[in-house]
Order: sequence, then C-alpha cells, then structure tokens
Amino acid sequence: MNSQELTSRFALTHDPESSRRTICGTDVIIHCHHYNSRIQRTIEGAAGIDGKKIFVRAAESVFSGMIRQAIRPGDSTAEKWEIAAALYSHLGYGKLDLSSLSTGLALGTQSHFVEGWNAGFPERKTPVCSLTSGYLQAAHLVVTGDPVSVREEECMVGGAKVCRFAVNRSRTEPAATYQRRPVPGPTGKPSTPAPSNIDQKKITEALVAMPIHGNNDGLLPAFNVYLANTPIDFYNLACFSFIEEMDRLKIGAAAKSQLMADSEYCGINTFQGIISSPEWAGLVGPMIKDQQRDTMHGIVAVSNALGWGNWQIVEHTPAQSLRLESRNGYEATGFLELRGKSQVPSCLMLTGAAAGIMELVYGEGSERERFGQFASRETTCRSCGGEACGFEVTEAS
Ligand SMILES: [Zn+2]
Ligand SMILES: [Zn+2]
Repeated sequence: MNSQELTSRFALTHDPESSRRTICGTDVIIHCHHYNSRIQRTIEGAAGIDGKKIFVRAAESVFSGMIRQAIRPGDSTAEKWEIAAALYSHLGYGKLDLSSLSTGLALGTQSHFVEGWNAGFPERKTPVCSLTSGYLQAAHLVVTGDPVSVREEECMVGGAKVCRFAVNRSRTEPAATYQRRPVPGPTGKPSTPAPSNIDQKKITEALVAMPIHGNNDGLLPAFNVYLANTPIDFYNLACFSFIEEMDRLKIGAAAKSQLMADSEYCGINTFQGIISSPEWAGLVGPMIKDQQRDTMHGIVAVSNALGWGNWQIVEHTPAQSLRLESRNGYEATGFLELRGKSQVPSCLMLTGAAAGIMELVYGEGSERERFGQFASRETTCRSCGGEACGFEVTEAS
C-alpha cells in the first residue's frame, strides 16, 4: 500500500470549536513520553491490583475500534496488517515488525514507552510496552477475528536489542469492549478569558497544520519531547478502571492523588521542554510581551491545540493564583460518556497540570523542588452537572 493512501486514511481532522483532534474516527490527544510513562508507572505499580491488565485491556478495546476504522472492505489480510503497523507508527508509538507473526512472534524495534521510561526512570529493567501488547491484541482481533493474548517477553528498556512479543492464540477470555453513551455538548456562555498578548487562534492553526505524526522510526520528537497521539478513551478507560479498582481496596483517594501528581510533573516537565524548544521560540516567542503572564497563556493555548480540550485562563494574579475554565475537557466528557454522572470532579489531569504550569512559570528550583509549590483543585465539574469545569490554583500553604 503506498504511503499516500495510508496518509489519507490517517488524515487528521480538527474541530476548532471543541479543539478536538480526530484520526480514523477516534478523538486523540497529544501527550508526551513523560506523562505516558508516569501514569503507566502509577497504574501498573499499584499493589493489590493487576494494573498491567488494566492498561492492556484499555488499549485492546480502544485500538480495535480505531484500527477497524482505518481498514476498508477491499483490503487483503496482508494490507490489514500493514495498515495496523503503519497506524501504530503514525500515532508515534514506535515501529512494529510483524514478519514473524505466523510463528507467534511480533517485534517492536522502536518504542515511545521505552523512551519515556529511560528518560524518567532509567532503573527500570522489566518490560514496559503494555500499550503495544494491547495494540497487537487489537490488531489481531480486527484482522483475524480472534482474540489472542500478547505478552512482552523481552523489552529494549532492559537492554534487549528489540522488544519481543509472544502471541498466544489459545485465549479463552473474550475480547475487551466498552460502550460510550452520547453526551450533549457544553451549554451556557463561556467566561471571558483573562487578557494576554497570545493569539490562541494563530497557535492552534499552526499546530494543526504541523505534521504531528511518527517519523520513519514511528517516533514523534517535537518540542524537546517525544509526543504520541493517544485516543482519549484509552486514557479515560485506563484511569477510571484504575480508580475503581483502587476504590474497592479503599484507597481510591490515594490513586487519584497519584494521577494528579503525575499530571503536575507533566505540567512542569513537558512544558519545560515545550517552552525551551525551537518550535515555541518560532511560534509563541514573538507574541510574548509580558514574559510570565504571556508564557502562562501560551502554554494553555498550546495544550488546547494538542487536543486537551478548550480551557482558558479566566483570572490570573502573577505568581499568586490562577483560575481556569474548561468547557469540554476530555476527562469530564469521558466520564459522562463512559460512566454517567459523577458525584465528584473527574478532571485529575487538568487539575494536576494547572498546578504544574504555575510551578513551571513561577516556581523556584529544580523540577523536584517546584513540585508542590502550588495547590490546585477543581471547584466545579461538568461530569457532576456543572456547565463547565473550574480550576483554582493558589500558592501552597
Ligand atoms: Zn518494550
Ligand atoms: Zn471536570
């Protein structure tokens, strides 16, 4: 299949109103290798639950839908495998070698998650490519109709030359699926954004026009980090299931704090990479007149363009406080779609990231020292019936 055909099948659509990025009929959001490896570490590292299974099943259920959308009725079996591998690379997860599949073996020769773990937790030696295992299960299901179990036996993170995945065809467990109910879009009028010199529209247009997809290695180095396009449903299914399982052990609150902490680190780390990148200097740099205030607004504008939703700074006292409003954050919308109305706010990623970006712009010291210098809370959430989600960040006492 020629690359032009593949590119057209994976074409990005972007809705400026909602800030949603869609590939193969699936809403995706761009996060970097720091965030992805951190939440995986949180979910898979928790004692008393099978976090790896949560990660793999979320990937299997979401990517089977996505791969299905990429395939056309006339495609041959070989073409279907080719499309599945190409989509994996296009999204930025790395590179798959499926030439030995008939012997029950798949190889990963490049890996977004290995990059993430090596950057954040280089001591890790056991396999980290759980998302890949789930992706391969999804691909197998779509191409052959049969659910299989895929286990990573050897991983580059532990020093292996390639990641080796064993495909077991004697699986008895049914394929992972999920239901999503339709949810009406946000209602009411958005609050007026706080003033800044940042042209959000220009940033969004530039980032939407930018080819944010995997290179020849299936990796996506940009803004000083490795990015990946990940389905919103994957993050939501993995995080919601994790919290529910931890709730059963009566430690759901600790699980949420940890996910928020991961996002707070992401706010510091990821955006540190972004604001010191040549892409930022070229695109956002010329708009910055008031260094710190405009940097805050620039970061929020970039995050919206990456598919985080449409959140805006509505009040900001430099170095002291920040108030944000999100009208269609993927966590609140996802909770309503996947679980229904919530009793408590759902937007852990945005809550943590809001503190992280304040710490990045106004905090002092190393990343570790900045962490915790600001406190963030979600005061109202769309998943609880509010018109929008509201976040308040203040100096930590
Ligand atoms: Zn691996
Ligand atoms: Zn919310």
